[in-house]
Amino acid sequence: MFLTGLASLHRLDADTSLLVNALSGAVDLVDNELRAQLLDIALGGRPNLRERYRRLLKQRGYLFAGEGGERAALQSMYEAYERITASRPIEFVVCPTYTCNLACTYCYQSDEVHAMPEVMTDSQVTDFYAALEAISSEHPDKSRQIILFGGEPLLPATETVVVGILDRAERAQLGVSIVTNGTHMERFASLLTSHRSILKSIQITLDGPEPIHDARRKGPDGRGSFAEVVRAIELCLDAGIPVNVRVNLDAHNLGSLEDLVGLLQQRGWTGRDGFRCLLAPVTDHVGTSTYAPMLREDQLVEPVLGLLRRRPELQDVLELHLFRVLHHLISVLQPHGQARSLPRFHYCEADRGDVYTFGPDGLIYICTESAGISEYAVGTYSPRYRLWPRRLRRWQNRSILTLPECQECNIATFCGGGCAYAALRQSGGLMHGACGDAPEVLRAYVAMLRRRFQQGELTLSAADAAN
Ligand code: SF4
Ligand code: SF4
Repeated sequence: MFLTGLASLHRLDADTSLLVNALSGAVDLVDNELRAQLLDIALGGRPNLRERYRRLLKQRGYLFAGEGGERAALQSMYEAYERITASRPIEFVVCPTYTCNLACTYCYQSDEVHAMPEVMTDSQVTDFYAALEAISSEHPDKSRQIILFGGEPLLPATETVVVGILDRAERAQLGVSIVTNGTHMERFASLLTSHRSILKSIQITLDGPEPIHDARRKGPDGRGSFAEVVRAIELCLDAGIPVNVRVNLDAHNLGSLEDLVGLLQQRGWTGRDGFRCLLAPVTDHVGTSTYAPMLREDQLVEPVLGLLRRRPELQDVLELHLFRVLHHLISVLQPHGQARSLPRFHYCEADRGDVYTFGPDGLIYICTESAGISEYAVGTYSPRYRLWPRRLRRWQNRSILTLPECQECNIATFCGGGCAYAALRQSGGLMHGACGDAPEVLRAYVAMLRRRFQQGELTLSAADAAN
């Protein structure tokens, strides 16, 4: 009798515990007798389990005949995961420049990378498309998507490059998404409108009502960007281009989140086709940030989920996909009628092997956050294309099945092994797990379930648990 190492027990009250299975996604209430027996099994004991419990625990993926059975179940889930995710497009991220016209208070890009004066040249755009075709030819079944990123991709200095990229993307019928601060949208509006058919989405950051946003997202002269950002969102929506508003959350703007939602509603954006609002924690993957208002993901669990509980209608407005651990936990443990998420074998697209980032330095990177730091490049595309297989493999071999630290972790399939770039910067190599806040996020989430359970707001019935 072998209890999966991906099970964890969390007390709800003196008599009841929550049993969570990160392998199968099952969640069950157990009494103290069964709790003690499970802990005994985990320590190698052979308690006298009631037959009904034994059958249920096997059915729900907690108990196996031996460790081999658990590994086989994990491997077969991985194969199913690979089959399902095979249809994801390859993302070709292009940074026309690493520079930016804003100096946001929490920006993760280093001053050295921001200060690089380069802008991609026309011949680099040609070389980028040659590399895109070469990489695509290795994955003939995959669709392709281009993402314009930076620095800030929409600047007066990048206009010619952006025109070149969009024109060619249109000829090849490749979808394009853009991540921008929105400050030069007025200048780019007619260009984007004329390429509307290939524009999948534009992500623009809006961090709060005017005084809050302007205190965070401002130029080097201290002038805020709220007015331009609001105008940019309206221009895109009016042109029929889908807009993802991103809100970067920390202690500075958390308290104004409700007011921001009021503003989105007042402007009539929340009811418009193509409008989405994505919340994201401000993060520090390098581990050296001195930005004081930063909150860990687990510290945001109660305030954000508390707001969604108080105002359930906002669940249709605010999306949590960028809370990488919390969103996965919710989708597994409380999917609210949506399809339950797959176990997580990778943390993000960077270690799934379907993203390549191209910079104005002629180099190819994997993770967008590493772009501009040449020692993390995995190849070159200009003046000649070449991938460096050893460097590339290190990113692409990274999963909870290959990371030594993650083998014994009972939340591995909730976490996915953590941010690869954080592992690189903080542990000195990609083949380390980067736990970050993942264990604390699970604890905070269970603590919130416990409170709701104790207050009678939440009843976990056998039927909930069996879903
Ligand atoms: S590796 Fe980390 S920093 Fe890079 S894209 Fe993934 S989550 Fe972001
Ligand atoms: S990175 Fe840490 S928390 Fe995440 S799966 Fe690996 S050991 Fe577990």
